[in-house]
Amino acid sequence: MQRSPRILVVGSANADVILHVPRNPYNGESLLVRSRTEGLGGKGSNRAVALSRLGAKMEFSCKLGRDVQSDVLLSAYGHEKISSDLIFFDEQTGTGTAYVLVDGNGNNTILSYMGANDTFNRRDLDKLVTEMPRFGFLSLELEISLSAVEELLQASRKHGVHAIVDAGPARELPLDLFRDVLVLSPNEVEAAQLTGISITGMRDARLACIKLYESGCRNVVLKLGAQGALLYDGCDFVHFEACRAGEAVDTTAAGDCFMAALTFALSRGTDMHNSIRYANAAAAISVTRRGAIDALPFGEEVELLYSRSLKEVT
Ligand code: AMP
Repeated sequence: MQRSPRILVVGSANADVILHVPRNPYNGESLLVRSRTEGLGGKGSNRAVALSRLGAKMEFSCKLGRDVQSDVLLSAYGHEKISSDLIFFDEQTGTGTAYVLVDGNGNNTILSYMGANDTFNRRDLDKLVTEMPRFGFLSLELEISLSAVEELLQASRKHGVHAIVDAGPARELPLDLFRDVLVLSPNEVEAAQLTGISITGMRDARLACIKLYESGCRNVVLKLGAQGALLYDGCDFVHFEACRAGEAVDTTAAGDCFMAALTFALSRGTDMHNSIRYANAAAAISVTRRGAIDALPFGEEVELLYSRSLKEVT
């Protein structure tokens, strides 16, 4: 039987508040903010928007509060052609918010309020578990409660749905959570946190992949920033150089973009190697643009860079 290309994205949704400050405040200091902008954020939202722009058959589930922020997010999802059928609400807790301080040198400090992202309850999870068999792929990250991640992965196993897991943000957790997932994909910081191996070169990267593979997942795809990505499938290591789409100016959401594009390519039946090349192409475009959502590319532009990168390989 052919696997459904339909993707279920479950993850975090935040209202980002970006504060431009001359420098970070000292303890007890009251500092004037130069400018303030608001936007859509959260790893789940980023993947959902990226997948929708790539043209995937996808649905997004997240949990929001009942507040002004959730109205803003819902309207943004509508604009991005993302259905709100699987979006849940918590009556008591506010919508997740990331307060991003950007200092005069462009460096970020982020204060993250999980808010409603941490409130997936029995009823929400029952609904998602019931819906699971409609999907061929599950796209997850760790910015929602771990009990929800655990239960969704269990359901994906039961229904033969391919799970593709972004191992961010860095958290300490038992590796056997990832048993049977098709792809476990941390960045270097997350891989170090999960394995205790600090990654300073390709040798450490390989050792970390081997340790992550022992979780029982089927493929480890280690995101290596400007170095691209490293695949370990239990037999071989394959390093995929990053693509070049222009000058890299901002890597915010590059990892989310990579994950979305990888899942989309796999859902179209593309093999793992070319799916990683496609993901590198999408993420390379995103780093040439500032911001998170604003940086996420559309299908046609990724296709062009991907085709170019395939010609370089052959
Ligand atoms: P990261 O989460 O920083 O490891 O980056 C995720 C993905 O974004 C990488 O695996 C690359 O595909 C891509 N990427 C990050 N930085 C760059 C860069 N400077 N140039 C091209 N691609 C990049």
